[in-house]
Amino acid sequence: MSGKFESTDPGEIQVPLGTATAARMYDEALGGKDNYDVDRAANARLYATIGEDRVRSTAMENRRFLGRAVRFLSRECGVRQFLDVGSGLPTVRNTHEIAMEADPQARVVYVDIDPIVAAHGAALLSGGSTRVITADMREPDSVLDHPVVGEMLDFDKPIAVLFVAVFHFVTPAEDPARIVSAFRARQAPGSYVAISHLTTDGMSDDEQAGWRAGFDGATVPLVLRSKAEIGDLFAGYELVAPGLVRPWQWQPFGEDSPRTTSLYGGVGVRSGS
Ligand code: SAM
Repeated sequence: MSGKFESTDPGEIQVPLGTATAARMYDEALGGKDNYDVDRAANARLYATIGEDRVRSTAMENRRFLGRAVRFLSRECGVRQFLDVGSGLPTVRNTHEIAMEADPQARVVYVDIDPIVAAHGAALLSGGSTRVITADMREPDSVLDHPVVGEMLDFDKPIAVLFVAVFHFVTPAEDPARIVSAFRARQAPGSYVAISHLTTDGMSDDEQAGWRAGFDGATVPLVLRSKAEIGDLFAGYELVAPGLVRPWQWQPFGEDSPRTTSLYGGVGVRSGS
């Protein structure tokens, strides 16, 4: 785990008040209240360089994609198990709420590196078929072998693994392909992955620098990737229609989503046996 989150006391929640975190910055960009001065200051830097509307629209476009992907997976694909990795703080239209519209028995495990997510999640969730854990996806076994994951999810049946707006916090040295591959190796045929990611494609050099600078000093650095590099994360999966596209273009259902050129997103079904 990131040293900035490290705790030797499992009963103690480490909230780095002096360091901005991705979870709390995203919460602020979506209009949430679970953030601190340091997060608002980091976002103010982003707003000053990139434009507040652009940043907030990017966050909302991404969140709408997450919702539509879960809706598609639960309603159209019959998926009843979700591993939402880098889930962020609970907000409106959470994965479990959408999955349970299709089936109240749907099972959802939220995973985030930031312990504040589990702290807030525990207060929100009534338990039962939804749980939240603190773990680092860069150590896939710490997620996949977590006792709560073993208790909640049946890996012999399809599971949708959601990596929505999280891989841009994984550096090339941390080998994103290795991480996806480790999750894929545990998934049964008929399982899915959903990925969205900030992209260099269509972004000026100044805007790229602005996004990166916004995360200077945050607990995790920001890594932008090209569309081709994001596409590579789907190795071992077949993209479902409409493929890897701007999130607002992904199965829009007539929904009113902000439209930016900040991200790419897609959903893939596990290929092979
Ligand atoms: N997936 C949600 C969504 O799209 O609405 C939240 C996305 S938010 C931008 C990214 C989240 O990923 C943050 O809550 C952050 O703490 C989490 N995160 C970053 N690196 C992580 C890691 N290595 N393991 C687990 N979570 C991570």
